[in-house]
Amino acid sequence: MKRITILGSTGSVGRNALDIVSNHRDRFRVVALTAGRNIDLLEEQIKSFSPEVVAVADAVSARELQERMISHSSSLKILSGYDGIAEAASYEGSDLVLSAIVGAAGLIPTISAIHSGKMIGLANKEVLVMAGRIVTEEAKKYNVRILPVDSEHSAIFQCIEGHKSSDVRRIILTASGGPFVDMDISKLNDIKPEDALRHPSWQMGKKITIDSSTLMNKGFEMIEAYYLFNIQPEKIDVLIHPQSIVHSIVEFNDRSCIAQLSIPDMKGPIAYALSYPDRLAGVMEDLDLVRIESLNFRKPDNECFPCLSYAYKAMEYGGTMPSVLNAANEVAVDAFLKGMIRFVEIPVIIRKAMEDHVVMPDKELGVILEADRWARMKAQEVIKSLRKET
Ligand code: NDP
Repeated sequence: MKRITILGSTGSVGRNALDIVSNHRDRFRVVALTAGRNIDLLEEQIKSFSPEVVAVADAVSARELQERMISHSSSLKILSGYDGIAEAASYEGSDLVLSAIVGAAGLIPTISAIHSGKMIGLANKEVLVMAGRIVTEEAKKYNVRILPVDSEHSAIFQCIEGHKSSDVRRIILTASGGPFVDMDISKLNDIKPEDALRHPSWQMGKKITIDSSTLMNKGFEMIEAYYLFNIQPEKIDVLIHPQSIVHSIVEFNDRSCIAQLSIPDMKGPIAYALSYPDRLAGVMEDLDLVRIESLNFRKPDNECFPCLSYAYKAMEYGGTMPSVLNAANEVAVDAFLKGMIRFVEIPVIIRKAMEDHVVMPDKELGVILEADRWARMKAQEVIKSLRKET
């Protein structure tokens, strides 16, 4: 029986993971859950999975949850705040921690789980974008395995297993391209949040859905691949593949390529990380290539979607620059979702924050967190100046 902690259980990845657990209760037991503020859903999850520990983002939500749980379970420990979530992440009764909080909020809990020696199923790519060097070094130090949950990285992991890393020539990350992949550049101006949230192939949380539509998500995934597989950015290519059937490709030195295919369903990669090295039966629907008929690939359009190239730039600068890329993007996406900026202003905000940043080495967590704080402030300033102009 594998004992599992889910960080971000109320999110899209977290809910998918719990669906998998509920179909395989003979293999998995949920021991700890964390959420932000959605205590209605967390309450349901507690009743269904009986974890030993839960944590929420703030004390008010924790108190409300405590009141609701009085008659249910006396042994449930309810924690709150940054420290509470980090404590739940390191809960000793767990074997594997699924890191699925969205954004920078997932960094400290993930490091806390690594420090407690748990195996990590990593969905939260921002953790590696911000602090990939530290996270991978700490994982090495604590002898912790990081299993990728992102579908592209799970694909690469599955293709690369059993091969020598020195035999890998190139990685091709595939991207659906999001809802605007074929849109004329002049039309990008009018995009509304509800348009950008209509992803053609994946059902995901709001932030990653917007990141997919700007191709920032693919930039983050390039950085994620660099840290997970130790492959230099120049050996990581991106191809738009609108069908989202080929989840990524590994090319070896002899030019042989191995790809992983399935229907687009996050249950596949989540289940593989939870059950690794085993595979669970029937997690996804059958892949019917005859019905799909054709698989298409083309290069991304960097003029319409510059965020991908900013991610390569951030890696060239190194140090704290990827953390700035991430923080400015988080602020810009949030502002776009709130209707404060236009879609095309997301890259403007990121670029301005990157241009004004003085890069520091990324050896200490404190320096990374300071760069994150600085970039959020900078991004807010840029948003204010953009609003003055309009
Ligand atoms: P969602 O927005 O659906 O869920 C985010 C989760 O994080 C929720 O449980 C939310 O809690 C919690 N959360 C948000 N802010 C905080 C905070 N400050 N403190 C504690 N918890 C918080 O995101 P997704 O599930 O879509 O994505 C999660 C991560 O996985 C992201 O990093 C994303 O890039 C990555 N990923 C997601 C994929 C997907 O298919 N969705 C695919 C590949 C990677 P609450 O709801 O209670 O507020």
